[in-house]
Amino acid sequence: MNRADPSAPLIDRFQRRITYLRVSVTDRCDFRCVYCMSDAMTFLPRQELLSLEEIDRLATAFVSRGVRKLRLTGGEPLVRRNIMWLIRSLSRHIGNGLDELTLTTNGSQLERYATALADCGIKRINVSLDTLDAAKFRAITRYGDFAQVMRGIEAASRAGLKIKINTVALRDVNEDEIPELIEWSHGRGFDITLIETMPLGDIDGDRTDQYLPLSLIRTRLNQRFTLDGLDYRSGGPARYVTVAETGGRLGFITPLTHNFCESCNRVRVTCTGILYMCLGQDDAADLRAPMRASASDELLHAAIDEAIARKPKGHDFVIGRGEKPSISRHMSMTGG
Ligand code: SAM
Ligand code: SF4
Repeated sequence: MNRADPSAPLIDRFQRRITYLRVSVTDRCDFRCVYCMSDAMTFLPRQELLSLEEIDRLATAFVSRGVRKLRLTGGEPLVRRNIMWLIRSLSRHIGNGLDELTLTTNGSQLERYATALADCGIKRINVSLDTLDAAKFRAITRYGDFAQVMRGIEAASRAGLKIKINTVALRDVNEDEIPELIEWSHGRGFDITLIETMPLGDIDGDRTDQYLPLSLIRTRLNQRFTLDGLDYRSGGPARYVTVAETGGRLGFITPLTHNFCESCNRVRVTCTGILYMCLGQDDAADLRAPMRASASDELLHAAIDEAIARKPKGHDFVIGRGEKPSISRHMSMTGG
C-alpha cells in the first residue's frame, strides 16, 4: 500500500475536490417521519456506533485533507448523548482549516442547546419543517411536538444562529402550504429549501404516492411570486432564487430531476464509520476498521484515499410504482 499523505487534498478521478463532509452521528431519532423511516424502524445496536472520540478523530482526518465544511446530521444529531462534547471538540478546527461547522436537526432539542451551539462558533443550522399545522406535523413526524419545535426555532434565532428551513414537498400533504411556509420563513429572516422525496430505505407506504416534482411547485410559485434566479450555488444539488415579494432566499433540491453530480464536492460518513462517496450509489468504504486497527491514522488516510479514488461520476436514482427503493439504506444512515 502506498503511504498516504495526511495533508494531501482529496481530489477524485474527475478532478472534483472534496471539501464537504457530512457525518451522521446516530441513526436514532425521536421522530419517525413518514418519508424517512417506518414506524417500526429498528436502530443499530449501540456498540456498532462510532464513539464520539472516533467521530472526532475521523472528522479531524478529513479536515487535515482539505475538508472545509462539516455537517453533523443523523438520525437526530441532538439526541446523541454528550453531543455537545463532540461539537465543542470539533469547533477547535473552525478558522483552522474548517470554514464552517454546522448541523441539520429536526429542532426538537434546540431549546436546550441553541445557546451552547452558538457558543461553539456554529453560525448556521438547518431545521427540517414540513408544515405549520400542529396536527399535520404530528401526522408527518408521527411523534413530533410542533410547539416544542417552534420554541426550539425561536431559541436558535434568539441565540443568533442563522436558520435554513428544509421542507420535503409531499404530494397531497403539504403542497398547498408551500407558499405559506415560504412567507413564514422569510418573514423571520430564514432561508427555505424545498426537497423532493428521494427513494432511500424501506418505509411503510409507496413513495410514488408522496413524490411531487419540484418543477411543478416552481410553476405554481411563479404564478404567485416573482422568482429571481441567483447564481449562488453551494456545490451541492440546491439551486437558489430570491423571492422578490419577500426578499428571502428559496432553494430547490431536485436530486431526481436534475443533474448536479459534475460539481459534487461532498462525501458522507454513517454513524458506523462507513464512507459513502455518493448519496445515490451503494459503493462504500469502511473507515471504522482501519481506525480501530491502529492508534496512528496512517491506515485511515490510506482507506480514505482508496475510497475517494472510487467516487463515482454520478448517481442513479429511480422512483417507480411498487418498486423497492433504489437505495436500500435509510436517509437516517447517511443523513441526507
Ligand atoms: N433528523 C434531522 C432532520 O430531520 O433534520 C437530520 C437528519 S434527516 C435524515 C435530514 C433531512 O433529510 C431532513 O431534512 C429530512 O426531511 C430529509 N429526508 C429524510 N428522508 C428523506 C427522503 N426519503 N427524501 C428526501 N428527503 C428526506
Ligand atoms: Fe428523524 Fe430527520 Fe428522519 Fe424525520 S427526517 S425521522 S426527524 S431523521
